[in-house]
Amino acid sequence: MSKCAVFRADKYDDEILYAVVKKHFEAHGIAEDLSSASNVLIKPNLVADKEAAFSVTTNPRFVYAVIRCLKDFGVEKITVADCPGGSLLLFSQMTDVYRRTGYSFLGEYAALNTDFDSSDVFGQADFANGKFNIINAVAHADYIINVAKLKTHNLTGITAGVKNLFGCIPGMQKPAFHAKYPSKTDFSNMLVELAATVKPDFTLVDAVDIMEGNGPTNGKKRHLGVTFSSRDVFTLDKFIAEILDIPPEKVSTLSAAEKKGFIGTAEGVGDTDFTPQTPILLPDSVRAETAGGKIGAKINTLFTKLNDALFMSCPQMNEKCVLCKKCVATCPAGALSLQGKKIILNKNKCIGCLCCDEVCTNAAVDIKRRIKRKR
Ligand code: SF4
Ligand code: SF4
Repeated sequence: MSKCAVFRADKYDDEILYAVVKKHFEAHGIAEDLSSASNVLIKPNLVADKEAAFSVTTNPRFVYAVIRCLKDFGVEKITVADCPGGSLLLFSQMTDVYRRTGYSFLGEYAALNTDFDSSDVFGQADFANGKFNIINAVAHADYIINVAKLKTHNLTGITAGVKNLFGCIPGMQKPAFHAKYPSKTDFSNMLVELAATVKPDFTLVDAVDIMEGNGPTNGKKRHLGVTFSSRDVFTLDKFIAEILDIPPEKVSTLSAAEKKGFIGTAEGVGDTDFTPQTPILLPDSVRAETAGGKIGAKINTLFTKLNDALFMSCPQMNEKCVLCKKCVATCPAGALSLQGKKIILNKNKCIGCLCCDEVCTNAAVDIKRRIKRKR
C-alpha cells in the first residue's frame, strides 16, 4: 500500500498553504527523514517563463510553504532547481525565468539554481535507458522533493508527479529525447524510467489552480482547490487521475508505469471525498468520447491505441505568432523554419512531439490531428 494524501486548499494564501503543506508532511512523517545536515532539492515545474497567474508553473507561494516547513525541521541547505523547456539556458536567462515566474523572492530562503552542468545517474539495468544525464542540483541532492503542477498535457494526457521530472534533463537533451522516442508509448516509457532513476523522496502536487484543455502551456486556467502528496510518485499519479475522474488510459505515463508494475494500491488519506464539480477537460489531441464501466474502459483503451497508431498531432501556427523562433530552436526534428514572415512546418520531418507548443508562450500553436506518414 502507498499512502496518498489529498487536502483542500482554497487559494494561494501563505497561511493556508503553510497549514496544508504541513499536513502533507505530517501525513507521511517526512520530518523524521530530515536534519540540519540534509541537502534538500525542490523540483518545481518552471516549464515556461510565465507569471503564476497563468497556472503554467508550480505556484511560488506553494513552493514557499514547502520551504517554510523544511525550515521548521531545521533544514539549512535547500535548493530550488528546474531546467525549463527550450534551448540551453544561460545564467541571465534563468534569473529572468525566476523573475517572470515570481520565484525571485524565494532566493531569500533557498538557493535558486542557475547551473545546468550535469552528471550521469544510473537506473535499473533492465531499463531501455539504463542511465540519464541530469542536472547536478538534482544528481547531487540527498533528498528530492518533487513539487509538481497539475495540468493537462497534449502528449501524455496529464502532467503531475512523473512528467514533472523531465525538467531534470538539461536543455536541448530534452528535445533530443523526443527525437529518439517519437512514439508516445516509447516516450512515456522513458519518462517512467527517468522517474524511477531520479527516485524523488516525496512528491507534492499543486492543484489549487490547474490548467485544463490544451496544456501544458496553452490551455485554460481552472480553480480546483486541492493538493496531493505521496512518497510513491507512480501511485500518486494514478490516485490523482482516479480522484479527478480522468480515464487512466488517456494518461500515457500511467499506462507505461502500469506495464512496469510500478503502480501500487493507494491508501487515500485526508479529504478523500474531494471531487471536481465538472469533468477535467482533456487536450484535443488525447480527448475522445469515453464510456463508463469495465467494458467502456476496454473500448476506450482500444480506441486510444488505434488513434495513436493511425494519427499524429501536428502543429499549425496561428495569428498570435510573434516570430520569436523559440519553437524553431527547440524542434528536435528540424521541421520548423522562418520563411518571410511565417513559421513554416515541414510535415515530412515533424514527429508530433509538440515541443513547439510547450515552449510557445503566446498560444500561437494550434494542434491538428493528421494521418501518420510512413517514414
Ligand atoms: S509559434 Fe510561438 S514560439 Fe514559435 S515563433 Fe511563433 S510565437 Fe514564437
Ligand atoms: S514541429 Fe513541433 S511537433 Fe513537429 S517535430 Fe517540431 S517541435 Fe515536434
